[in-house]
Order: sequence, then C-alpha cells, then structure tokens
Amino acid sequence: MHIKVEQACPQCGAPIVVQETDRLLTCPYCEVKSFIRANGVFRYYLPPKHENKWDTPLLYVPYLRFKGSIFVVNEAGIGHRVVDTTQIGVDVPGLPPSLGVRPQVMPVRRLAPQISGRYLPLTLKARAVLEKAIRLTPLRLEQKETVRKPVSYDGGELVYEFSTRVKTVEYSAHSRFLHRAFIGETVSFVYLPVARREDRLVDAVTGNTLLRLEHPAEALPSATPFKSGWQEKFTATLCPRCGESLEGEGDCLVMTCANCDTVWAIGREKLESVDWQMVPGGRRTTMYLGFWRISCEIPVLDIRSFADFVRQTNQAMIVRSSWEMQEMSFWIPAFKLRPRVFLRVGRNATISQWRLAPGPGHVTDSMYPVTLPASEARQSVKVILAATSAARKNIFPFLPKVRLEKTATRLVYLPFVDKGHDWYQPQSGITVAKAVLRFGRSL
Ligand SMILES: [Zn+2]
Ligand SMILES: [Zn+2]
Repeated sequence: MHIKVEQACPQCGAPIVVQETDRLLTCPYCEVKSFIRANGVFRYYLPPKHENKWDTPLLYVPYLRFKGSIFVVNEAGIGHRVVDTTQIGVDVPGLPPSLGVRPQVMPVRRLAPQISGRYLPLTLKARAVLEKAIRLTPLRLEQKETVRKPVSYDGGELVYEFSTRVKTVEYSAHSRFLHRAFIGETVSFVYLPVARREDRLVDAVTGNTLLRLEHPAEALPSATPFKSGWQEKFTATLCPRCGESLEGEGDCLVMTCANCDTVWAIGREKLESVDWQMVPGGRRTTMYLGFWRISCEIPVLDIRSFADFVRQTNQAMIVRSSWEMQEMSFWIPAFKLRPRVFLRVGRNATISQWRLAPGPGHVTDSMYPVTLPASEARQSVKVILAATSAARKNIFPFLPKVRLEKTATRLVYLPFVDKGHDWYQPQSGITVAKAVLRFGRSL
C-alpha cells in the first residue's frame, strides 16, 4: 500500500497530497509541474499531535521503510513475495520494532528544516534491517509437480495419464539460497516523533507512553539537528535538449519530449538522457510498454550470443545460424508487476527477443509510464536468467558466480493491442492482464 505525503507546492506553497512513488508533482492550484529529487533517500515523519505544544523539542526516531519484491533462487525453484514494511533503525529496546500500518493510515510529511526537533541517527545497518524484514517474510515458491490420474483399464491394469501442475508452497527465507534480489525497491525513512516526559518517552502522535528511561541521559544515542542534505530538491520539467515541456504521469521515472523524440530519466542530480528504441506498431496498436533491454555477456556460463543462451538454458528451440551473431539481451519489464507476473513477462520477452526488431523511437501519447528504474532492472537479470532456465542444473549452481560483462542498457517500447481483459504483444505473444498492470501501479 502506498503512503500519502503532504507536500507544499514548490512554486505557490499550496498544500497538496501526493503518493510516495510520485516523482512528478503537478500543482492543482498553479498548474506548475516539477520533479522531486532526494539526495539519497526520501525522509518523512508522522505528524505529531499538537505540533507546537510540546514543552521540549521532539525527538525523531528513524524507521526504515522497504517496499519491493524479494526473489530467492534455491535448488527447489524461485521463491518470491512482495515486501512492504517499516522497521526500526535504532537499537533502543522498548520502542516499537515496526510502525505497522501507521504510515498508511495517516498522511506523512517530508522532513523540513523549520521543524524544531532533533533526529536520532541510524544505529543499525540498513542492510541488517532489510535482512530482518526478509526473514520475517514467508516466501511463495512455485514448484512443478507431476499429477497421476487413472484414465482406463487395459487388460486389468490401470492406465494413468500424467500431467504437471504448478503448486505454490510457502517456505521460510531462512533456507539456503543460490541467489537473492530485492527489486522495485522503495527505501525511505519514516520518523516517529517522541517526547521526553521526565523519566518516560511518549509517542507524540498518540500520547501513549512507550518506555521508561532509567538513566534518561544515557539511554538514547545523541540526536542531531536537521541536515541540509536531507532537503528534497525540485527541478523544472523542461526538455534539456529543446526546452519544450516534458510529458509524464505522477509516478513515472522517465519523461518524454514529443518535440525532439527524446526520453529522460530522473537522475539524482539532473535529467539524464535515455538510450531508447521502439518496435514499430501497427494500426491496431493501442499502447506501448517499455522494457529495459540489458545486453551482456556471461563468461562463467559461456553465454556471448543469443544462440549460446538458447543452448545453455536448454530452450525447446532449434538454434538458427543468425542467432550466433545476435547479442544476448535480457528484456526486463520497465513497469512494476507482482513478482509472479514479472517473472513470466521477463521470461517471455527474453526468450522471444529474436522476433523483436527495434528501430528509432517516436514519442507518442500511448506510452505507458516507466515505473521500474534501469538500476532495478539490472538487479533482476539473474532472476530472469533463472526463470528462463529449462535445465536448472546447467544454470542454478553457477548463479553465485554469474557476472555480467559488456553490459549496455537501452529502453525499448513494444507495441500492444487491446484484447478485452488483456494487453497482447503480437510478435512475442506476451499477454498482460489489464487488472495486473493497474495493480502494479500500487506496488
Ligand atoms: Zn502551486
Ligand atoms: Zn525536446
């Protein structure tokens, strides 16, 4: 579930409420569009009750929020789960270990220098906090199993029909793994304001006592004031090349310029030009969906061409001679999907790449927003490699050693046609249910 963020318009100051995933703000009052950027992670706080009525400055306790899909590959298959959690980042016994659903129930606010409070530093490593969150999450693992069904008698003997079905089992993320990835992640800070009342710490949102301090001065790490680097920044949404206004929806991570046919990603410092292409659509094309095409070589598996990939992963396809010269690419959905669908779509697109012939792109108004950044797509290459493996024993044991070389990333839009409940990609046969795509926006 998304958290909502109360935000002042950087242009006119009007209060607006945005989703935490929104990077593009459009003010409903002055209609000015701007990008929001953070120097690192975004920082929010739960608004205290009676903000200015506490006699001592409030203390802000950091919680780390993780939101994304976890994938774990082990001998048994690929386990996955959506993780959405807010875990405490300081080692102070007695404080709530998690904020639970509180950030989703009330809109949070962005940290700002004018808040008269002090901030506890993170005393636990973010990595360790994420580890803990993952351990608490049971994974779903898809396993193929053979089903035996008696169909007839033949001379007194039962004749069986065998079929396979996919069953989903739950298992703990404690188990050994060959590869693990956390994808589509949102990592942010949500601070809980607390007040000192004599020997107690009080939750400044609810007024409840959280813990009693025996030695009030020593119990907590020393707090710091607001740091200027925490302040978010706003950028105008003008095309760096031609100066025209860029287009995009609130949660998009890349914006397009219809005037000069360029695509721009929201970088940490500025807009960064995206290398992009498009597979031309036909008359029936109603939408283009973006894929991160990550070309690479994998020396440990002897994969240098698409033909190598087909052989090593044991695809049920006859290798064509032209594939020997075709570079190997992983085609990763550039939009968020729930983990099971993400694996299927990435696998289909990767295996069907020989049918896709991208060329120069032309910006249209039917391009679906990119909501998964290229960096996350690169993180998911090994997971998609595992998902495409028809012969696990050829690939899975090598996953810890897999390193990508000669990597190049490009955004390619594929044309989709409207098939009622589904979007359908004619060259590759990929289908994505419309409801699934909508649901992905909330991940
Ligand atoms: Zn405004
Ligand atoms: Zn332009």
